[in-house]
Amino acid sequence: MRKIAAHYIFPSTEKPIKNGIITLDDSGKILDITQSNENLLEVAGLEFYSGILVPGFVNTHCHLELSHLKGKVREHTGLPGFVSQINQIRKADDSEILDALKKADADMCHNGIVAVADISNTRNSFEAKSNSKIIYHTLLEIFTTNPDFVERNFEMAKKHENELKTLGLSSSIVPHAPYSVTPAMFKLIYNHAFENKQLISIHNQECASENELYQSKSGELYDTFVKLGINFDPIPLSGKNSLESIMVQLPKSTKTILVHNTFSQKEDILKASRYFENLYWCMCPNANLYIENSLPDIPLFQVLKQNITIGTDSLASNKQLSILEELKTINRNFPQITVYELIRWATLNGAEALDLSQQIGSFEIGKTPGVNLIKQFDLQNFKFRPESNLKRLI
Ligand SMILES: [Zn+2]
Repeated sequence: MRKIAAHYIFPSTEKPIKNGIITLDDSGKILDITQSNENLLEVAGLEFYSGILVPGFVNTHCHLELSHLKGKVREHTGLPGFVSQINQIRKADDSEILDALKKADADMCHNGIVAVADISNTRNSFEAKSNSKIIYHTLLEIFTTNPDFVERNFEMAKKHENELKTLGLSSSIVPHAPYSVTPAMFKLIYNHAFENKQLISIHNQECASENELYQSKSGELYDTFVKLGINFDPIPLSGKNSLESIMVQLPKSTKTILVHNTFSQKEDILKASRYFENLYWCMCPNANLYIENSLPDIPLFQVLKQNITIGTDSLASNKQLSILEELKTINRNFPQITVYELIRWATLNGAEALDLSQQIGSFEIGKTPGVNLIKQFDLQNFKFRPESNLKRLI
C-alpha cells in the first residue's frame, strides 16, 4: 500500500484538492482520496511531493509506426508538403522501424501516458502494442481514392482486425481523411462501425485547402495530390466544407474522434455537434505548429461546450510524444483555459472517448488510473512553466 501526497491533487472529476492524499494498493488501485488538515509530514508512511498529481494521460491520436521518421520531415511545409515528404521517406528497414516504435512506446510510458488510440496502416506496430504496458486501441486506417482497391483494402483491414483480436488488442476500421476515402469505402466503414459499435476517428480540416477540395476541386492539397498521381474523380464535389460533406457518411451514434480541427470554423463545429451523438475533438497542437505553423481556435471549442481530447500525432510531426508538452503549448497560447480543464481533457475525456473511463482517467476509488507528478509547476498562478516536467509515480 502507498500513500502519496502533493501540494495539489487534480482528480479530473472535481476541482483540485489542496494537500490531498491518495491511498493505493499494490496493484495501483485507488483505495481512498482525502484532504489533509493535519501536518502532512506527520502522516505515517506518507510520500510527499512538491508539485501537482494528475491521473495517467490518454493520448487519443498517435501513429506509432511512423516513429522512425523523427527529425526527418521539414517543418512548416503545410499538410500537402508534409504528406508528399512522408510518401518519399516512409520506407525503411524493418529493424529501423521496429526499434524506433518500441522506443516511442517506452517513451510514452515514461511520459505518463497510460492509454493510446494509435493509427495503423501496416501491421508493423502490432506486436509492440501487445507487449506494452500501455493500453492500446488500434485504428486500422484506410487511405485510397482508387475504386478498384475498395474491396481489397477493406478485406486487408478486417484481416488485421482479426490478428489484433488474437493478440488481445481492440481495434476499429477508420477512414484517413475526408479527401482520401471514396463514398463506396465510407459505406463499408459505416456498416462495419455501426454493426460492431466501433469507435471512429478521422483526420479533420488539418489544412485550409481541405475545404477548397470539396468546395471547388482546387487548392494546394488538390494540386499536390494530383501531382502525386491521386485521382480525385471518385470524390464528389459538394460545394461545402469537407466535414459537412462527409459526416453523414459516418454513423452518428458511435463514438467519433475528429482529429486536428485546425481550420474548423464555428459553423463546422455546430453542424458536427448536432449530427454526432458522441463527438470528441482531438487537439494535437505541437503537430499543428510543426506542419502548418498554426493552431485550432481551441477556446472556441470550449465556449461551444465541446468534448476535447489531446493527441501527440506521430514523431514525423512532433519532437516528442508527450501529452504534458501538448498541454504546455495550449497553456502558453491560450492562457484563459485553466490547467484544471486541460488536465480533464488529457485524462477523463480521453478515457471516455476510448471507453476506458471505468478503469482509468480520474482519481476515483476503485480505478487504476496511474499517478503522474508534475514538477516545477507554477503553484502561485496555477500555470505550467516552460521547465515543468513529469515523473511517473505509478
Ligand atoms: Zn495523424
